[in-house]
Amino acid sequence: MKGSIRKDERNKKYSDPAAVGDFVEIELNADGTASINEILPRQNAFSRKDGTSVKEDVIAANIDLVVAVQCFGDPAFNPRFVDRLAVRAMMDDIPLVLCMNKYDLADDDTCQYINDYYEKTDVQIVYVSAEEGTGIDDFRKLLKDKISIFAGYSGVGKSSLLNALYPSAELPVSEVSESTRKGRHTTTNVEMIFTDAHTALIDTPGMREFGLPEMEPEDLSKYFYEFKTNERKCKFFPCSHDHEPECEIKDRVELSEISTGRYISYLNILESLRYNKSNRYS
Ligand code: GDP
Ligand code: ZN
Repeated sequence: MKGSIRKDERNKKYSDPAAVGDFVEIELNADGTASINEILPRQNAFSRKDGTSVKEDVIAANIDLVVAVQCFGDPAFNPRFVDRLAVRAMMDDIPLVLCMNKYDLADDDTCQYINDYYEKTDVQIVYVSAEEGTGIDDFRKLLKDKISIFAGYSGVGKSSLLNALYPSAELPVSEVSESTRKGRHTTTNVEMIFTDAHTALIDTPGMREFGLPEMEPEDLSKYFYEFKTNERKCKFFPCSHDHEPECEIKDRVELSEISTGRYISYLNILESLRYNKSNRYS
């Protein structure tokens, strides 16, 4: 990569200026190698930022869909993780699908809980079993002609799922253990695999936690789809929807128009944004 790209002021907030999915202009060198002369403007980017790191990690660029993989059974369904991914996806207008794997282990109560949780959101839910093949054909249709990024921590069956979807793709199986990945940038082992000319998957191994990029805490509610209304009825502006009286969001949680779980996720993220902000300025 040309040195001037790294030195560019606009790229300094990223751990690496180029990401999987970027379109770049290259120049072929005499020895058969190539240099990146320019990174073309992105349509969108999916990035994360760990609380401890100074820089933002762009996991992938120019994507059509984020797939958050979770499962029934073990490891337990983690809506807090999914909601963080959903906020990040919405920041760049990327749709998100929640893929619930191990449907063969599902029970009615858990399905009901998940459906109620996301009913008012823009999150689409897909139920599959990589082991038994349930839902795989429909899911493959949904992924067709899109560039999708798969995020989920180990054990949810992400490798099994990708192999069930694309048995002939010979997807590389990650052998890095969860513990040795600690502290490493995810971008180092992110791969994009084309399954046909217009369909690609981006696998992201080892995503245990997901830190959001910096934003003002009062902007967070913009990225909770069902929190938005045409009218502004909170008494205070801006309203963080936690301690203020006469708050429309809190009223709507009371009325079950917003699920309690989503509101808890909101408060949870709000707290971490405030914490990070106070650390930045102290
Ligand atoms: P990864 O770490 O997310 O890539 O998960 P793996 O594909 O390695 O699967 C983790 C475990 O879940 C393995 O023991 C799989 O056999 C199991 N598993 C994967 N898919 C399913 C499924 O659809 N149903 C059940 N019951 N187990 C599954
Ligand atoms: Zn409010």
